Amino acid sequence: MNPSHPKTEDGEKAVSTPPPSPAPSNFIRDIILDDLKTNKYAGRVQTRFPPEPNGYLHIGHAKAICLDFGLADEFGGHTNLRFDDTNPQKEETEYVESIKEDVKWLGYRWDGLFYASDYFDQLYEWAIKLIKDGKAYVDDLSAEEIRKYRGTLTEPGKDSPYRNRSVEESLNLFERMRAGEFPDGSRTLRAKIDMASPNLNLRDPVMYRILHAEHHRTGNKWCIYPMYDYAHGQSDSIEKVTHSMCTLEFEDHRPLYNWFIQQLGIFPSQQVEFDRLNLTYTLLSKRKLLQLVKEDRVRGWDDPRMPTIGGIRRRGYTPEAIRNFVASIGVSKTTGSIELAMLEHFVREDLNKRAPRVMAVLRPLKIVIDNYPENQVEEMDAVNNPEDESAGKRKVAFSRELYIEQDDFREVPPPKYFRLSLGREVRLRYGYLITAKSVVKNERGEVIEVHCSYDPATRGGNAPDGRKVKGTIHWVSAAHAVDAEVRIYENLFSKEDPSEVEEGKDVLDNLNPNSLEVIAKAKLEPSLANAALGSRYQFERLGYFCVDPDSGPGKPVFNRTVALKDTWAKVEKKQKG
Ligand code: ATP
Ligand code: MG
Repeated sequence: MNPSHPKTEDGEKAVSTPPPSPAPSNFIRDIILDDLKTNKYAGRVQTRFPPEPNGYLHIGHAKAICLDFGLADEFGGHTNLRFDDTNPQKEETEYVESIKEDVKWLGYRWDGLFYASDYFDQLYEWAIKLIKDGKAYVDDLSAEEIRKYRGTLTEPGKDSPYRNRSVEESLNLFERMRAGEFPDGSRTLRAKIDMASPNLNLRDPVMYRILHAEHHRTGNKWCIYPMYDYAHGQSDSIEKVTHSMCTLEFEDHRPLYNWFIQQLGIFPSQQVEFDRLNLTYTLLSKRKLLQLVKEDRVRGWDDPRMPTIGGIRRRGYTPEAIRNFVASIGVSKTTGSIELAMLEHFVREDLNKRAPRVMAVLRPLKIVIDNYPENQVEEMDAVNNPEDESAGKRKVAFSRELYIEQDDFREVPPPKYFRLSLGREVRLRYGYLITAKSVVKNERGEVIEVHCSYDPATRGGNAPDGRKVKGTIHWVSAAHAVDAEVRIYENLFSKEDPSEVEEGKDVLDNLNPNSLEVIAKAKLEPSLANAALGSRYQFERLGYFCVDPDSGPGKPVFNRTVALKDTWAKVEKKQKG
């Protein structure tokens, strides 16, 4: 991780951190700059983002998207969206649509929209050429046998007994594979490279397998499908991709990527690898995310606890925050793990600038101001966003009975507690100074109502005699409040590295049982009654929240996007030791 960036956030007031410059340099950018200097691709920059449509995109993909699109944009280049749909068994149109939506939401527009399956005919012709050139052969070994013959990192592989069958025989068998004469798994087409290569990917890799399966685009036209390694580089080449960025696990595949391109004598796209994004407390694997959805561990792909683009969008994260985050983590050649807190920092930083402030009480405690006239209502002026003067002001109703947070009152204040307590004066934000006088308790001894007095001379929150109060708390007028459901999210996993599991356990055992808390009856200021779907607010002193699609007319549902930094929780923790 780039050490110049803070690991933890500075709270909601941290606007002083400048947003990262749009293009901090990195080694991939340097490669492109070099290629432009030497005119390697006649000044062109062409990239692609190649998702496999077998799941929803996640924040890791956002990193790849920002690189692919961002670098091309910077150099006046082009970026294609290409679906890597070579495996008919796991791929679905639903995923294709969600991926398009997510890329657009992140703020990018593709130039060409392609599918690896667009190239199945061309890939087939090229396979024929490789057979004719003696560079590929049909093998009758089973998948299991191929694995055995492959050898290990320390032992060379063994030639398949079919490796030297004639070109004519391979051609004939390959055509019949295509015609559907053979069952799944009975034969493969393999590249003839080197069974003793120290790189296992070069030990006669499989190019085609037989799969009698319907494809989401080509239907039943094919019953042989190309492997990723045989399809990817050639697809890049067909699209004249100059810089084909992918994650580090493909580094050992690069010699094979180049081998196919060289044997075929086609446009030499260049593969460049970078580190995968890993985030603490987060799993970034489509397979695992699918499992969470299938087993109902979450409420779907767009559950706000999911690291999917759909999930973080619903949670209230902004595309700007994600792009700034990705720009700031940079790229490297070693895989590490980024603090989730850092992503949250960028979310706060962005929302701080744009989110209107409102008052909402999540766990209401009623207060009654005994000396405030009954039935009187005052409209208090409240600032919409201290970070943005143009956001203006709004009126908030003040009356004799209000709600404050249960946390903001203690009968007997612990040390360093500056909020309301018996005999203590505090400021009601945009309201008056009040002093707690007495409490009403239920049969369990819990405080259910606090009686206070107010000083009428302190309207707006300041005392004319200049006396100071240490605490300022938020509130809503009981008679005017809007009821809302508020969903509070914590990390989905309780382990920093969720994939770290004890023997006999599963990553799902690391799920945080408290990742979702539903507050059924929060009290909001009335301006939120009809807040638009997806709109984002700062609930003063609590965090950033956004309107969830589950909201109904007059019945808003809010998601907590991210909390504000809670200094009190830290003090309390320290005190408890
Ligand atoms: P997953 O592991 O989640 O299944 P994948 O690599 O199989 O991901 P693809 O659809 O093949 O998913 O990925 C599309 C592109 O996104 C690839 O270029 C891949 O390298 C990149 N990508 C996937 N995960 C990450 C990640 N965590 N960080 C950065 N890039 C990623
Ligand atoms: Mg993949």
